[in-house]
Amino acid sequence: MSTKQQVLIVEDEPKIAQILVDFLTLEGYLTRVIHHGDEAEAAIKSDMPDCVILDLMLPGKDGLSICKDVRKFSQVPIIMLTARVDEIDRLMGLGFGADDYVCKPFSPREVVARVQAVLRRASLSTPSAHSTTLSFKHITIDTERFECKVNGTTVELTPVEFRLLRSLLSRPGAVLSRESLMHSCYDDSRIVSHRTIDSHMKNLRNKITLADDPQPILQSVYGVGYKLM
Ligand code: CA
Repeated sequence: MSTKQQVLIVEDEPKIAQILVDFLTLEGYLTRVIHHGDEAEAAIKSDMPDCVILDLMLPGKDGLSICKDVRKFSQVPIIMLTARVDEIDRLMGLGFGADDYVCKPFSPREVVARVQAVLRRASLSTPSAHSTTLSFKHITIDTERFECKVNGTTVELTPVEFRLLRSLLSRPGAVLSRESLMHSCYDDSRIVSHRTIDSHMKNLRNKITLADDPQPILQSVYGVGYKLM
């Protein structure tokens, strides 16, 4: 039995699809390419891939509609490819349920890194995951004990701050939208304003930034969200 994880690539441009296939194969993933939007959902239902890379502009059904409809039956991680960077913010705001967004032209390595990140995150959210600690640079959290250590010293976080930090630590370097952070910190998916997230983030940043750090580890990305770096 193969234990390789499968990535389904829904992309109508053969060259782009092939680059993704090449790089993902090198990293040990199985791949399948679908070129037409109308075939994507059937493929997801039959293959049950571990991750989907989904182009926005497709012949037939477009990427956004596919994403929205897939979420009715599957929580498979979806990485959306878009042609315009300014589109990402708008798409995130619409809340179609994609896990990450990558702008074309992209570096294939970057896409592979995103795939690895969403798969790591997906495995963390399964109850069988053994590891309960997440670390990045001087920050470590224990997700079972709800403990946070900064440079080895325990720091008190509120439950919301802890959940925000947990989301950021599960994908260091990736920009998380305020929407996705919101969903990760409120179980009931209540809608809070961006300002609420911003003020939690400000408090969190004050708690996890080292006094002598040249740049804060928690950074805001204008118009998009937040990242750890
Ligand atoms: Ca396309």
